[in-house]
Amino acid sequence: MTSPFTYPVSRHSRKHGPEGYAAYESYRPWLRDEFAFRCVFCLTRETWGPFQAQFAIDHFVPVRAHPSIPANYDNLLYPCITCNSSKSDRSTPDPLMTLHEESVWIERDGFLHSKTTEAALTIELLDLNHPRKAEFRSLWMAVVSLSRKMDPDLYRRILGFPDDLPNLKRLSPPNGNHRPAGVDLSYHTQRQRGELPAIY
Ligand SMILES: [Zn+2]
Repeated sequence: MTSPFTYPVSRHSRKHGPEGYAAYESYRPWLRDEFAFRCVFCLTRETWGPFQAQFAIDHFVPVRAHPSIPANYDNLLYPCITCNSSKSDRSTPDPLMTLHEESVWIERDGFLHSKTTEAALTIELLDLNHPRKAEFRSLWMAVVSLSRKMDPDLYRRILGFPDDLPNLKRLSPPNGNHRPAGVDLSYHTQRQRGELPAIY
């Protein structure tokens, strides 16, 4: 069964490398695809809320500490606004390195557990085990489990991709894309090829 709160199997290697946008908001379509339309910290999905504005763009290394790198794609993350607010300007372990299946897992009660110091620190700093967040995850896991047994169409709607997959082939970053092969791996391209999974 696909669990909506299972972290990626391994550390995240960036597949996209757009460069040169003046406004970091222009990186949003790339980040949406890069992080599979989910919060990089808590795995909440875009499709579970009514507005894309529920997701922010975060500078992993805070701009205040390093004003010269505000729009460096590799420094940008895609968190939900709750996690973005918890992180704020604080330094945290890199979630791309620390939050993966080997280091973090979830129990049926919705609480996250960790194997490494860095993952535990990330959970603590982002307040990912706040009781309301654990209840949210527990609730969604129950809904996913029930829909899988009782309503396959609902199951696909809960775990499917959003309809508005960004067509990255149409975008032209001002200074190019230093990881051009990633566009062929994008979800929009997968859908065009008929290879997009029904759920993830
Ligand atoms: Zn989040």
